[in-house]
Amino acid sequence: MANRQPDIRKLAQRQRWLIWLVLISMLTQFSPLLPWGQFHFALLVVAGALQILCYVSMVVGVILLLTARDTHPIWIILNALLMIAPCANMLTLILVNSMVTRTLKKSGLRVGLMGVDPDEVERILNPDLCKTCGYNLTGNQSGTCPECGTEVDRASSQVG
Ligand SMILES: [Zn+2]
Repeated sequence: MANRQPDIRKLAQRQRWLIWLVLISMLTQFSPLLPWGQFHFALLVVAGALQILCYVSMVVGVILLLTARDTHPIWIILNALLMIAPCANMLTLILVNSMVTRTLKKSGLRVGLMGVDPDEVERILNPDLCKTCGYNLTGNQSGTCPECGTEVDRASSQVG
């Protein structure tokens, strides 16, 4: 792992995208099992096309996600290959997702089932906002957030 700071905003955004892709992909995989799938050929074709599109997007998504995390190129190529390999892609997705989750958690973010809330990313990245409630602390003198009482991180909020 490199020493450079990962791009948290990009990382959180790309993780959310990948989670959505996985959900859509799962829906399209189950669609042929639905009763209407047997009778409407056109719908099956649409579901199939969507499935392929999702699959390609997921491979690209994993590469973009690992790039935002500043992962070593060899590790990125390995994961991309695993994404193409049969049966390995789900495992790779889980592995990559847990790696990204760990990186995001290290930055103080709460990672839920659907990734990180974009508002929370902004709170963490903007030193003028309260880390707990998002209240604007520009020019705060008391040292505590007037909204929720959280102690203000002086090192990052003081300007000049
Ligand atoms: Zn607060």
